Amino acid sequence: MSKRILVTGGAGFLGSHLCERLLSKGHEVMCLDNFFTGSKENVLPLMKSPYFEVIRHDVMVPIHLEADEVYNLACPASPVHYQKDPVETIKTCVHGSINMLGLARRTGARILQTSTSEVYGDPKIQPQTEDYWGNVNPLGIRSCYDEGKRCAESLFFSYHRQYATDIRVIRIFNTYGPRMHPNDGRVVSNFIVQALRGEDVTIYGEGQQTRSFCYVDDLITGMIAFMEQNVTTGPVNIGNPGEFTMLELAEAVIRLSGSKSKLIFQPLPPDDPKQRCPDISKAKALLGWEPKVSLEDGLKETIAYFRKRLA
Ligand code: NAD
Ligand code: UDP
Repeated sequence: MSKRILVTGGAGFLGSHLCERLLSKGHEVMCLDNFFTGSKENVLPLMKSPYFEVIRHDVMVPIHLEADEVYNLACPASPVHYQKDPVETIKTCVHGSINMLGLARRTGARILQTSTSEVYGDPKIQPQTEDYWGNVNPLGIRSCYDEGKRCAESLFFSYHRQYATDIRVIRIFNTYGPRMHPNDGRVVSNFIVQALRGEDVTIYGEGQQTRSFCYVDDLITGMIAFMEQNVTTGPVNIGNPGEFTMLELAEAVIRLSGSKSKLIFQPLPPDDPKQRCPDISKAKALLGWEPKVSLEDGLKETIAYFRKRLA
């Protein structure tokens, strides 16, 4: 059945892929965005559809809309961007969640929060399961995002307990793919852009820290499957359990892009998590979901995208 779906942060990297997939499933999509890190270009092809609307708005400000479902993605996700204006990042997470939860409560809409592996901070257990409470520095430079997202989770579960709001909370692990901005600042886009331009590839620290990278198509499939099921509110980890050091990632990007770039080592930013890897048993058991795209295949697609975009 066709639904009217509000996607906040819909003009961003993940949001634009989500809008596209929801439209292709026959839904009506309202994309709400303040274009802080997103862009109209990301959703330009969707604007031909009469079932797609763009609303320039900031989630920090309440808004009156009617929706059957809300996907709350609005929030800068790259450390470079979320640390640019930390107060705004916290307000986006907290006031944005309160406003969207209020909208969901009023309309009876199901609402999904895109939480993050960052709620686990610099984790002391490996891989991270959903019942792990995390190891976050509440005062550090990443805390505007980490604690903002933790507070958002708390708000979602409080609305659920107090008002029976129909919530879903997913914890997304590092996701990459086409439509990341060349200046996004996250590691995959940085390395690819540097490799394609023949510039030095910037490894922070010694490059032994690990991340687990999920290709965007897999992530979107998992996110929608989670929204559509009726078994659990979550939180559920969605990510690819393949774990790589940043050195391994850099070498793969250089090899797959046929680049002659060299590695250079720069200081590790404060509180940079040493390891990160999702335990996805819950997603597998409850959603029958697991990622299908290998890092190698996903990087090839992403490199092809950036090659075109930078040309
Ligand atoms: P992105 O920066 O590309 O997209 C975020 C979008 O939100 C942008 O279009 C931006 O303009 C918009 N936005 C920011 N603040 C806003 C505000 N106050 N009001 C309205 N719109 C606002 O990031 P992304 O990678 O697409 O991430 C989307 C969501 O998924 C974020 O909430 C992020 O925390 C979460 N997430 C992403 C990842 C990942 O690896 N991509 C991992 C964990 C969580
Ligand atoms: N990183 C790096 N070089 C870069 C950008 C990032 O070595 O040019 C490292 C960063 O220090 C971190 C990892 O790559 O250890 C992932 O960083 P990203 O900003 O993509 O996401 P995070 O998982 O840290 O939020």
